[in-house]
Amino acid sequence: MPIFSDLLVTAAGALTSVLTAIILFGIEQYFGFSLYTWSIWFILPIGAILAGFAAASGYYFGAKLFNRKPTKVILAYMTLISAGTYFLIHYLNYYFLQADGKMVRDYVPFFSYLAIAIKSTSMQFYIHTRNAASTGELGWFGFVFAGLQILGFSAGGLGTYAILAEQPFCDNCSTFLKRSYFKKRYHFGSDEYSHHISKLVTLMKSDNPEEALLEHSKAGREKDTNGYNHQTSMDVRHCESCHRSWAKLSLFKQSSNSWNEINDLRTAIYYKRPIHVPKG
Ligand SMILES: [Zn+2]
Repeated sequence: MPIFSDLLVTAAGALTSVLTAIILFGIEQYFGFSLYTWSIWFILPIGAILAGFAAASGYYFGAKLFNRKPTKVILAYMTLISAGTYFLIHYLNYYFLQADGKMVRDYVPFFSYLAIAIKSTSMQFYIHTRNAASTGELGWFGFVFAGLQILGFSAGGLGTYAILAEQPFCDNCSTFLKRSYFKKRYHFGSDEYSHHISKLVTLMKSDNPEEALLEHSKAGREKDTNGYNHQTSMDVRHCESCHRSWAKLSLFKQSSNSWNEINDLRTAIYYKRPIHVPKG
């Protein structure tokens, strides 16, 4: 029942959005610090992006649980839900705000309150963890800051969608594929290595993923060894209903202490048959 499961997915998304707003509101009330306004270099709204991810997470898990393909409609919902969380946090502040023992909401409409709140935003600068300076009230510039935050929340929703859309899906049975094999190998970046990669890609593209898996598991080393600054991984997934399958080859290069994926060389292919994966 696609409509029913879409409703459940939407409900899960709405639930995490409301929970995120309540938690952030609570932190603001008790600690006097609004986590979601945390920015780096003023323009990068890290706090808002993270909050957007948290708000959209229910959509992510709901879609996985009920096997709903990430469509454009889901993308729109996730982005809207994340951005809406920004307004929900402000609405909670507004709802509980008192002045001279009276509820502010009895006298001021929400959007008038919001405009005042945005204009009276001030920013604290922190160097390391030390409060270094404050801007005072931002005035009209507060709207630029608010706009960046809303974009940050939306970006969190967009990012969550992108992660969901990356997951291989069987269109035939409307289900996410289940992982049946995963292996990493470490290499020196030599000519031999380049030859190995092109061989893997050729095998995968010529409907021979089994041979590619074997080739992959024999080359390079199993353990992360000093100087072996290239990494390859093979990921295989199956549809549990119709036995269609999917294989992905990913490549990573080490720079300082982190492994960065070489996106151009990623190869992911769907097969209309099962892939027989090596044991162990
Ligand atoms: Zn299937």
